[in-house]
Amino acid sequence: MAHVISNECISCGTCEGECPVGAISQGDGKYEINADTCIDCGACAGACPVGAISEG
Ligand code: SF4
Repeated sequence: MAHVISNECISCGTCEGECPVGAISQGDGKYEINADTCIDCGACAGACPVGAISEG
């Protein structure tokens, strides 16, 4: 499994710098998590100001 970013994302970019494995990148209209890279550590979820990141 991997964490996922919902449409609540406001593209602030805060989570990108929190991910220890570089799984987060800016996508089309919102940020996205690469499911193949994500190790499910949860670091990004706590950093999101709008609570858009959850366990997939
Ligand atoms: Fe990166 Fe951890 Fe978030 Fe996965 S759960 S995207 S590894 S910060």
